[in-house]
Amino acid sequence: MDSLAAIVGPLLEWYGRNARSLPWREEPAPYRVWVSEIMLQQTRVEAVKPYFARFLTELPDVPALASAPEQQLMKLWEGLGYYSRARNLQKAARVMVEQYGGTLPADYDALLKLPGIGPYTAGAVASIAYGIPVPAVDGNVLRVVIRLTAGWEDIADPAVKRAVERRMAAILPKDRPGDFNQAMMELGATVCAPGGEPKCLVCPLNALCEGYRQGIARELPVKAKKKARRIEERTVFLLVCDGELAIRKRADSGLLAGLWELPSVEGKLNPEGAAETLQEWGAQPVSIREMPAAKHIFSHVEWHMTGYWVDLTERPEGFTWAGREMLQQEYALPSAFRAYLEAFTK
Ligand code: SF4
Repeated sequence: MDSLAAIVGPLLEWYGRNARSLPWREEPAPYRVWVSEIMLQQTRVEAVKPYFARFLTELPDVPALASAPEQQLMKLWEGLGYYSRARNLQKAARVMVEQYGGTLPADYDALLKLPGIGPYTAGAVASIAYGIPVPAVDGNVLRVVIRLTAGWEDIADPAVKRAVERRMAAILPKDRPGDFNQAMMELGATVCAPGGEPKCLVCPLNALCEGYRQGIARELPVKAKKKARRIEERTVFLLVCDGELAIRKRADSGLLAGLWELPSVEGKLNPEGAAETLQEWGAQPVSIREMPAAKHIFSHVEWHMTGYWVDLTERPEGFTWAGREMLQQEYALPSAFRAYLEAFTK
């Protein structure tokens, strides 16, 4: 028997007393669990709550999501970032409509084949919504297990995660897999917290924790350093004509694929270079004003942006024009452009 099996009882008991009340927990229908899990990737619980409520009101089930216009979907996701998550949600919903009668399949392997669903999300949906005894190992669970076992393995190594998944599968209580998985995540989020701050003194597992016993919990887990982010200089233009702003769609592949953007080009252009670009676009500026620099951080890239406010009396071709209200209500511009967009909308 795996020594970790001893954590099951105290963990579930602790969870019963301490589980946070969350909208997707109160009513763990498969669609709700799935949407919440996708939103929670890379995003904090408190930030997700209003997005989740709005999303479920406008798109209450799989068929509604499958047939939602792209504009509506992007608007609902605006500000959450990582927009491919929203696109994959819709792609997966369409597969569900075509192949599974408009619901999530109650089958771990079938879930795993859907766009945007990896082992963690498949495990979470299968166990929480359907009671299927499969593990769901996210970063929180990984950290807890590594500390419990005083492991010095590199958690960036996929083999380490797979090994933890196997151990979790072996100790998972067959009658309460969803509660067990959520209890592990909850412990990792609220007690065995990241950043070297585990609250071992109040932890229900401290008597069973090897990391705590050895006094090394704070040093764990170890993770190989990520490569530094690539810095990309960009120049962003606010083309303003009659109180409307020019926007355009980005290419269908690459960073922020298919989303609306403020017209921008690679590189840091000085005023002369900016004037040349405007000429190439057929824009005849009445005035050009340089704006403060801005920065946006993506997972692998940092945009260091230079901005120009350009007043026009005629509209060059190739852009869509939108006033303040339309920008707020209809077009979802990624938060990368927020600093400049706010200069126009505020
Ligand atoms: Fe984490 Fe400390 Fe609990 Fe061990 S005792 S599981 S290190 S919080």
